[in-house]
Amino acid sequence: MTEKRDVQHRLDEAASACAREGAQLTELRRAVLGLVLEADGPLTAYQLLDKLKETRRNAVPATIYRALEFLQEQRLIHRIEKLNAFIPCTESDHHHHHAAQFLICRMCGTVAEIEDHAVLQALEQAAKRQGFRPGNAVIEVDGTCAACAAS
Ligand SMILES: [Zn+2]
Ligand SMILES: [Zn+2]
Repeated sequence: MTEKRDVQHRLDEAASACAREGAQLTELRRAVLGLVLEADGPLTAYQLLDKLKETRRNAVPATIYRALEFLQEQRLIHRIEKLNAFIPCTESDHHHHHAAQFLICRMCGTVAEIEDHAVLQALEQAAKRQGFRPGNAVIEVDGTCAACAAS
């Protein structure tokens, strides 16, 4: 879990990043990103909606979906397909989003984002041999994290 102070700092950074792209991190989008950053692990849209309702009683599913879509477009969060849940982006390289790798722990549910260019290169070469041009090459690997493996 990210410290509250760090969350504020990261929200400010996200706001500047959006502004550079000509987009606006509205108060609502900021609130949703804050929830994703404060979470202990990946949260589904409905879990986020429940949390959002604590401060915005009128929030409906469309509210959260639109905000999540925006945050994904701005490359601030990732959707983990296997879990149908969202995590903050921890990599500073914001061009990797069609080719990130995620390690998902089956035991504790944590997700680690790694960015290994060798993985992507190997995949691209293998695809090339088939005459295939990869588009979205996000890889989700499930297994056991170091902490769970040790206990
Ligand atoms: Zn990322
Ligand atoms: Zn684990």
